[in-house]
Amino acid sequence: MTQPNVCQNHFNEKALSLCHHCQGYFCSKCLNEGREFYFCSKPDCLKALQDETKAPSEENKPNPPMTMEDWVTVAIYYERASAEAGSERLREHGIESRIVDERTIPPGLPPDEEPEGNVELQVRAADTHSAMKVVGFNL
Ligand SMILES: [Zn+2]
Ligand SMILES: [Zn+2]
Repeated sequence: MTQPNVCQNHFNEKALSLCHHCQGYFCSKCLNEGREFYFCSKPDCLKALQDETKAPSEENKPNPPMTMEDWVTVAIYYERASAEAGSERLREHGIESRIVDERTIPPGLPPDEEPEGNVELQVRAADTHSAMKVVGFNL
């Protein structure tokens, strides 16, 4: 015995289609037509409808706000060995760090610009102050 599909909001209405987002059955009154799919009128589903109808190239996500988990540069060295020494000193103070070689990670560097041979020592944003006391900014 097959159950007729009825609208989740209107139990007397025959369902027209599935909401592409929540996969529920809805009637024509509850559904909004997107580019390819139908979406119901729940806030989440309307948001999905907006995402579906807008051009995919327009996906401009704003940068998330900086958190205490983000990496912050606390020292810049000319040589990797110095950075490793700095990292070692931080480790002695119980501070997690990482070494970023600018020559391999050019952040937004113009293509014709030669990258500097600097090596950055980074720590978690939460550790910035204590790390600065240990290694400081030695340019
Ligand atoms: Zn839905
Ligand atoms: Zn309905």
